[in-house]
Amino acid sequence: MILEKSAQVVEKYELCDHCLGRLFAKLGKGTDEGRGKSIRFVLNMERSARGLPPIEEPGKCELCKDVFERIPDFVGMMREASEGIEFETFLVGSRFPREILEKEKNIWAELGIETAEPINREFNRELGKAFGKSTGKETSRTPDVVFIIEPYSHRIELQINPLYVYGRYRKLVRGIPQTPLPNFEESVASIICRPFSETSGGKCVFKGAGREDVDVRMLGNGRPFIVEIKRPKRRKLDLNGIAEKINASERVEVLDLKVVSPREAERVLTQNHRKEYLALVRVEDGVTREEVKRVAKKLNGMEIHQRTPWRVKKTRADRIRVKKIHSAEARWIDERHFEVKLVTDGGLYIKELISGDRGRTTPSVSELLGKRAWCEKLDVLNILDH
Ligand SMILES: [Zn+2]
Repeated sequence: MILEKSAQVVEKYELCDHCLGRLFAKLGKGTDEGRGKSIRFVLNMERSARGLPPIEEPGKCELCKDVFERIPDFVGMMREASEGIEFETFLVGSRFPREILEKEKNIWAELGIETAEPINREFNRELGKAFGKSTGKETSRTPDVVFIIEPYSHRIELQINPLYVYGRYRKLVRGIPQTPLPNFEESVASIICRPFSETSGGKCVFKGAGREDVDVRMLGNGRPFIVEIKRPKRRKLDLNGIAEKINASERVEVLDLKVVSPREAERVLTQNHRKEYLALVRVEDGVTREEVKRVAKKLNGMEIHQRTPWRVKKTRADRIRVKKIHSAEARWIDERHFEVKLVTDGGLYIKELISGDRGRTTPSVSELLGKRAWCEKLDVLNILDH
């Protein structure tokens, strides 16, 4: 059957060994070119037995226009396009003209061939092999870079995939927003991104797992974050050196930096972490040691119904969230102040938990005390993983 169909093909079309062999790509092992050569060899033996002249490989293939002979040129183009870019793994894609893809499909239909593979698949594979051999780089399903080639217009496009770095940050001082804000010179994001941009030569985007307010410190084991580096020129980053530069700011510190996959990065940003806070509470009308003790006892294990706070209402959907306080400990300081240490579900607004936010958060410390209370200082002590 193979030989019968092949004989019809070579009599009707001038095909190179690649294009001939590719019609039977799903059969046996080896390259399409190898298949084509073998088929032609056996066909010509038969023709010789019947006293017919051999059908040699044509001067120019009418289907692919001998595109496979130009593979070394494409390898050269790829090397040039990726000069100065650090990568270990790559993938090749290509855009073939519609006429060629259609002509190929017509041949399959005409001869009832169901064992073929499309030309771009063979081209991508063979070019990938040749480029790998020439550079020592490897192909991968999750490559560092992707080359897209247009074989007939000689255009090449280089996609450099982003690099994701995980870390945790501590904000040691108040008065720095997490991401740039008008009237603030710096942000946690700008302090962290600067050495990443310098070292990688790419554009950095900072993404925190949640955020704290400008006037809130982030202490303890730090808040998880991801730095996405777009179009990095260098991927082997000296993460210790980068951490040292960030830590030298003495305002923001980073821990546990490591390169992660896109999937891990996504998980870090969507996971809802429990948090430990320390709040300094002021009660204008005065507060006793007894009252402080009672409030902490009530807060322990309590469910809080919190409508979207007044101050963020414009940027967040207005709805009621139910969040739990897992533990609460309080310490009386003076007749107007006490400290409360809380472990809560992620997403509970602490300042509003204390003030009550005009009745939008209930119960609240104000409500439990029967006196107006508000948060004077707030630190995130720890972000817990469970
Ligand atoms: Zn061909």
